[in-house]
Amino acid sequence: MPILNKTMFREYDLRGREADDELNDTSMYYIGRGFGTFLRKKNVDTAVVGHDARRTSESFHANAIRGLIESGINVIDIGTITTPMGYWAQYYLKTKGLLTVTASHNPVGWNGVKLGTDYSYTLLTAELQEVYDIIAKEEFATGNGAIRKEEIADAYIKDLLSRANITKKFKILVNTGNGTAGPVYVKALRQTGSEIVEHFTNVDSAYPNYTPNPDGTAMMDDTGKQTVENKCNFGFAFDGDGDRLGLVDEKGNTIWPDRYIILLSRLVLKKHPGAKIIFDVKVSEALPEDIKAHGGIPTMWKTGHSYIKAKLAEEKAAMAGEMSGHIFFVDDFYGFDDGLFAALKMLEYLSTEDKPLSEIIAGTPYYVSTPTIQVKTTDLDKYNVVDALTKEFKDEGYKVIDINGARVYTDNGWGLVRASSNTPTLVLRFESKTEEGLKKVEELFKQKLNKFDVVSKDWDTSGH
Ligand SMILES: [Zn+2]
Repeated sequence: MPILNKTMFREYDLRGREADDELNDTSMYYIGRGFGTFLRKKNVDTAVVGHDARRTSESFHANAIRGLIESGINVIDIGTITTPMGYWAQYYLKTKGLLTVTASHNPVGWNGVKLGTDYSYTLLTAELQEVYDIIAKEEFATGNGAIRKEEIADAYIKDLLSRANITKKFKILVNTGNGTAGPVYVKALRQTGSEIVEHFTNVDSAYPNYTPNPDGTAMMDDTGKQTVENKCNFGFAFDGDGDRLGLVDEKGNTIWPDRYIILLSRLVLKKHPGAKIIFDVKVSEALPEDIKAHGGIPTMWKTGHSYIKAKLAEEKAAMAGEMSGHIFFVDDFYGFDDGLFAALKMLEYLSTEDKPLSEIIAGTPYYVSTPTIQVKTTDLDKYNVVDALTKEFKDEGYKVIDINGARVYTDNGWGLVRASSNTPTLVLRFESKTEEGLKKVEELFKQKLNKFDVVSKDWDTSGH
C-alpha cells in the first residue's frame, strides 16, 4: 500500500521533503505509476522525463521512469535539464506528457515533480488531486512502455538564440547559485557574443552559498556585489531550475522583476500594439501604469506558473510576468516560463538602448516597495489565516482584490498577504508613494498578523 503524504500535492506542483514519509525512491515509483495512469486516461501515451541536479534527483528520476513504463507509457529520457528545457522538449519531441523531477528553488532537503499533459500546460490543483486519488486507491494502469534517450541542450540553445534579435555585446555577470542552469545557460549566453563573467555556475546540489532564488536578497545582493567588482554592464541571476530570472544594474542595485518586466512589455507592445500583458498580484502599480501608457491592456492574475499559463491561453495575451521572476513570452516563443529566454529578450531590449541600465530604469514609473517577504506558519494554517484576514479587511471597508490572497488598498498604498503554494509560509509585500506611507501600510499588516499565534513574528526577505 503506497503511503503518500497528501500535503505534497500542492496547487500546481508536487513538492515534499526527501524523507521516508514524503519523497523517496518508493514514493517516486508510485508517483510515476499514478501519473502514468492519469496520462493513459487522457490518451497521452508518451512522456519526456528529466531531472534537476539535486542530490536525490537522478535516483528519483529512475524510479519515476520505472513507474511510468509499468503503466504503459513510453518514456523519452532527456537526463539532467532545467525546468524550461523540459517544457521545450515537449514541443521539440512532439510529446504531450511531461515529468520533471525538481523542487525549483526550495532549500536543500526538498524535491518534487512538475507534471504536464499538454504543450505549455502543467497540472492544476484538481488534476493533482486526481493523481493522488489514483495512487491512494492503487487503481493503476498496467503495460510495458518503451524507453529511449535524447540529448537536447544544443538544439535548445540554437532555437532560443534564433528567436531573439540581439545586436549589441555586453559584459554580463551570470550567477546560477550552483543550480542546474549553470553549464547550459552560460554556453547559450556566450554564443550571443557577450563577455560572460561566471559566478557560482558550477553545479553543487548542497547549495553551499545560498539557495538560488532571485526573489530573495541573499542571491541578489551577492549578484550586485559581483557585478560591480567585475565592472559588468549588468548581472543575471537564475533560480535552481532555471525558469526564473533576476537582474541587477551596473551599480549593483537589484531591479526586481516587476520593474524589468516594464522593459520587456515595452518590447512586446512595440511589435503587438494593444496586446494584453498578464502579471500576478504581487507586482508594483508601476507595471500596469506603464503597460497602459504604452497602449497595452494590463491584466492581474493569480501567482503561480500553472495559473499564469492557463490565463495566457484564455486571454490570448502576448506576455506574462510574475514578481518571482517567471516570464512567459507568447510573442516569438511558446508561452512557458524560461529564465534563459527572458535573459535573451532583455539583451534584445538593451540592444535598442544606449544608456546604462540604471538610467533606463530611472526613466520608468516608481513607487517605494518592499521585496517579497516570507513569514513562517504551517501548511495547515496558512489558508485559514489568509481567509480570516481577507474577511477582516473587507468588513473594515477596505478595497480588496482577492483573486489570490488579499491585495488591500489603503490611503497610504497597498499591502498583500497570500499563502505560498509551495512552502508553509505567508507571502507579504507592501508599496506606497513614500517611505512614511510604506511604514504605515506595513504597520497595519503587522498589527493584524500579530494576533495569530501560528504566524511567526519574524519577517524574512532573504529568499532562503
Ligand atoms: Zn524555478
